[in-house]
Amino acid sequence: MTRVIAVANQKGGVGKTTTAVNMAASLASPSCRVLVIDLDPQGNASTALGYDRESESAGMYEVMIGEAELIDVILPCPDIPGLDCAPADVDLAGAEIEMVAQDRREFALRVALEDLERNYDYVFIDCPPSLGLLTLNALVGAREVLLPIQCEYYALEGLSQLLKTVDMVKSHLNPNLTVGAIILTMYDGRTRLAGQVAEEVRTHFGARVLDTIIPRSVRLSEAPSHGQTIFTYDPSSPGAVAYREAAEQFALVGN
Ligand code: ATP
Ligand code: MG
Repeated sequence: MTRVIAVANQKGGVGKTTTAVNMAASLASPSCRVLVIDLDPQGNASTALGYDRESESAGMYEVMIGEAELIDVILPCPDIPGLDCAPADVDLAGAEIEMVAQDRREFALRVALEDLERNYDYVFIDCPPSLGLLTLNALVGAREVLLPIQCEYYALEGLSQLLKTVDMVKSHLNPNLTVGAIILTMYDGRTRLAGQVAEEVRTHFGARVLDTIIPRSVRLSEAPSHGQTIFTYDPSSPGAVAYREAAEQFALVGN
């Protein structure tokens, strides 16, 4: 059974892309096929997986407006066997506007995934920092939400809005959707605040919070600029160890 996961939080810079890319890379192997769908016009997941965003080839923009099939835009990630990516670039920003006139516009991604998802064990959808039509498509196409929360002040702000959106999608568009797991990111053990935020999140969400907390680690922030995940860039760094552990736990959460 394929797990289709929307990595979502409308708050910007909380670690959605870093989590999507590194969890995907950690789980991927020749016997475990993983797809990362970049659904953010910033194209950060595509960059992190080594894709040239200047390329003329079709990407998620064309898929979302119905001009390309998902299978035709997917590229293998050369560094990591079993890992594929459906890339995006700034063009995708236009899709959000063009899709407004589209019939069943919330279902574009789900329709695109229909015959394809069975080729994969995991599909991670990297969402943009908004609750617009692209994120809505991710929530309709996914079966679970992986919610990254940054261990900083204001981390919980806007969370109720996200959870309300998830409930709305669940009641009207996608009854199967659940918040599958929460991952705490960018934890700085030197600050009391980080610990307080982590505790507050655990009190609120209980067992859905993955045990492993992702530490703040410079190597994690450097890897994308080399077009690499942490597992090829610095596989023994604390960030790599943490994402590997988190991915193992996430695999066990099941659904
Ligand atoms: P956006 O909302 O813009 O899509 P995002 O939620 O996808 O952002 P990321 O891009 O993953 O967040 O992370 C934001 C920034 O923080 C990036 O520069 C990233 O490299 C860096 N970063 C992410 N996680 C960590 C970490 N654990 N330690 C250090 N830096 C990190
Ligand atoms: Mg991102």
